[in-house]
Amino acid sequence: MEIEIATIGGYEEVGRQMTAVRAGDDIVIFDMGLNLSKVLIHDDIQTERMHSLDLIDMGAIPDDRIMSELDGDVRAIVPTHGHLDHIGAIGKLAHRYDAPVVASPYTLELVREEIDDEGKFTVENELIEMDAGGTMAVGDRCQLEFVNVTHSVVGAINPILHTPEGAIVYGLDKRIDHTPVVGDPIDLKRFREIGRDGVLCYIEDCTNANRKGRTPSESVARNQLQDVMHSMEDYDGGIVATTFASHIARVTSLVEFAEEIGREPILLGRSMEKYSGAAERIGAVTFPNDLDMYGHRKSVDRAFKRIMNEGKENFFPIVTGHQGEPRAMLTRMGRGETPYDLDNGDKVIFSAGIIPEPTNEGQRYQSEQLLRMQGARIYDDVHVSGHLRQEGHYEMLDALQPQHVIPSHQDMQGYSGYIDLAAKQGYKLGRDLHVSSNGNILQLV
Ligand SMILES: [Zn+2]
Repeated sequence: MEIEIATIGGYEEVGRQMTAVRAGDDIVIFDMGLNLSKVLIHDDIQTERMHSLDLIDMGAIPDDRIMSELDGDVRAIVPTHGHLDHIGAIGKLAHRYDAPVVASPYTLELVREEIDDEGKFTVENELIEMDAGGTMAVGDRCQLEFVNVTHSVVGAINPILHTPEGAIVYGLDKRIDHTPVVGDPIDLKRFREIGRDGVLCYIEDCTNANRKGRTPSESVARNQLQDVMHSMEDYDGGIVATTFASHIARVTSLVEFAEEIGREPILLGRSMEKYSGAAERIGAVTFPNDLDMYGHRKSVDRAFKRIMNEGKENFFPIVTGHQGEPRAMLTRMGRGETPYDLDNGDKVIFSAGIIPEPTNEGQRYQSEQLLRMQGARIYDDVHVSGHLRQEGHYEMLDALQPQHVIPSHQDMQGYSGYIDLAAKQGYKLGRDLHVSSNGNILQLV
């Protein structure tokens, strides 16, 4: 059986992931993502109404025109998890394929919202829910399987396409976490079994491939957060925290520790409401009954007014703006645009790292400066990454023993650490270690 892999997007950047695998006459697409930084760099762009081709020209979504060079039928579109760089182009591209979107429950809930928000195209692809551990037939001779992985969002899986030539393992995005705060540990046992049966190709998340050592577990971030928050127990002014709205495990920890230190947690900002609301709806998490979430600007401002009236020392706002996004809640607080007044000595916890990208770095710097000018004290980087570092990559290669490896989710510089470590494991560039770029097709069999 002929096996081809089209590396469509996310092979020259972190963002707009898309990969297609052709096994005989059947094709499966993994991820259809958005590169948000290519959108944010323009002022006030509304992507909802934009045409796919304009977004492709901006480098914001994958250029899927190369799909016409693959000789077969698309059987499924499979987003691995709910981050925008993996699902953010579904509204723009999925309607071009007569195939269902197959995803885990939380991811599918977010895909539904993407499709609802889409203002240019009508997306009528069937939506099929499949849990980790589930399988489905792809054509007559292949099978799709979901293996549970741990990442900074709930419901992350690695999809496997079992073909007569061996398994294709699509390894984006994950870290190896045996003690996640929400959800199950990574299913390394299943990866080892698949490795024993024979892996033809492993496509790997290289986000942190240049970092030595091991990515810590989410429980480490939870301990760190508990330590930071308990140190503030006696402070009688304002404490504000920000994190990735989709990072439900972290939001859960923030809510819990807020109550431990005698403050009422409250989620503020559009994406806080969106992601936490979706997690509650599908039963991935149970928040306290009285936890308030507000998304719309007016209701957020009303909540801020209530906090100011009843005393800042009684509340713990968890807000958007961890990357210093200009329109997010924390940045607005820094600019003094909300009814919440920051006083000298008030605490701001960034439970997030800076995504290493010049736009983010600049915006985050500005946001912190604005907060400091109001007197705020910053607690930075109370966080662990959701991506494997080098020791995790060694572990995965050891478990899977793939014949071919394709690094992904980085640019050329970002791949270098992975190329080095794969070479140490006996892989050779150009022979069984394939560095690709966007718009390539690799023929493996
Ligand atoms: Zn991700």
